[in-house]
Amino acid sequence: MERARPRAPASREEPAAEAAAAPPCGSIPSMRKLLLLLLATAALHAEDVTVVRAARMIDGRSDNVIAPAVVVVRGDRIESAGPNIAVPANAKVIDLGDATLMPGLIDAHVHVLLQGDVTTEDYDKQIFRESLPYRALRASRALRFALQAGFTTMRDLETEGAMYTDVDLKNAVNNGVIPGPRLLVSTRALSVTGGYGPAGYSPEIVYPHGVQIVDGVDEARKAVREQIANGADWIKVYADRSYFLLPDGTLSSIPTFTREELKAIVDEAHRLRHKVASHAMAFPGIENSIVAGVDSIEHGLSITDEQLDRMKAQGIFYCPTTIALEHVAPGRAAEGRTIWAALPKFHSDTVRRAARRGVTIVFGTDAGAFEWDAHLQTKEFGYLVRDGLTPMQAIRAATSIAAAALGLEDKVGTIEPKKLADLVAVPGNPLTDITAMEKVSFVMKEGKIFTAGSF
Ligand SMILES: [Zn+2]
Repeated sequence: MERARPRAPASREEPAAEAAAAPPCGSIPSMRKLLLLLLATAALHAEDVTVVRAARMIDGRSDNVIAPAVVVVRGDRIESAGPNIAVPANAKVIDLGDATLMPGLIDAHVHVLLQGDVTTEDYDKQIFRESLPYRALRASRALRFALQAGFTTMRDLETEGAMYTDVDLKNAVNNGVIPGPRLLVSTRALSVTGGYGPAGYSPEIVYPHGVQIVDGVDEARKAVREQIANGADWIKVYADRSYFLLPDGTLSSIPTFTREELKAIVDEAHRLRHKVASHAMAFPGIENSIVAGVDSIEHGLSITDEQLDRMKAQGIFYCPTTIALEHVAPGRAAEGRTIWAALPKFHSDTVRRAARRGVTIVFGTDAGAFEWDAHLQTKEFGYLVRDGLTPMQAIRAATSIAAAALGLEDKVGTIEPKKLADLVAVPGNPLTDITAMEKVSFVMKEGKIFTAGSF
């Protein structure tokens, strides 16, 4: 009978039978000890149970409010949720009283590396005078503000000249280095020569731009590959710029990319299993974006009914970002860009028609265009309701609908078993007073509490 080949010597305690079966390196007792230690650690975590109670709950699935609300959180996941859930023994119970519990909020359009961009000077100062480390530090503060306001997930739609710093911020959050919402990032974004600021400086001066400039189909495809290779979850394009009124009073713009360039970007991103978000304000930019097959239209100030219907048919979602427009328009008009004074009324009309026609509207704020320390993100809920969404639709736009639009529906967006334990609460009932969304009083992300003042 063939003998087993020689093995590494077993430790002294090891029984002979086990020694014969021991692997070439390591020993069974030490492996067993490690396994027992791991099991013990897992058991400790498994017993880490928190029960959150509140007067009511919007779970992101049901059209009805669930009352009362009991959510059992085990470790980083939701174990059970409903009106009549038994509280497990030894659970830590948090009773929020007359509050409404809902899934962690999702903001699908932010710029954590931008700290207010009302005027050209605001923008250029950050690009030219602030180092990337300083901008990263300011961004980490923005992430803290967002989390305290109830946002447990955000899609960041470009770094405004801060290169790939958003990938570092995302990793820092995921690795527990800094607190913040989980991030989907789009790195540098894409526009064409002359399509994005800073602008207006002497042609002799070489200076950084707020985006990656690409011209032509080949450069566009290469940039998509570069950005994805460096960590982009989404590709962001600027499809138009320079807004103006046509003689008939409709809003128009100058398209940046040719249709061929935009199609190449979308094709390359989709080929690499990534999606494309398109900044598109008026007819030419929106038309090119729809024809190219982008996945989301950002801002969309003036979209025709026919374009809205094609967006719906193609499954392109609409991220209106009303709060940013309302906030920056007066300042931009005051510095001489007078068209900005006319833009909010176009936008409000478009959001109303989009809601009526059943286009998927996803909550987004463009935070960063306004100062993060102005704490305006949750005001977007009020604008969505002003423009025709029900309070329930506005909350869904920031929870279950946003999660599905961003491909995160298996992890977040609803309060149900096996989802990550991302929970927020507001005082009272936001369905009767949507401004309650501006007073988030409890925040949990992956089972850990991040309520303002608690971290
Ligand atoms: Zn933006």
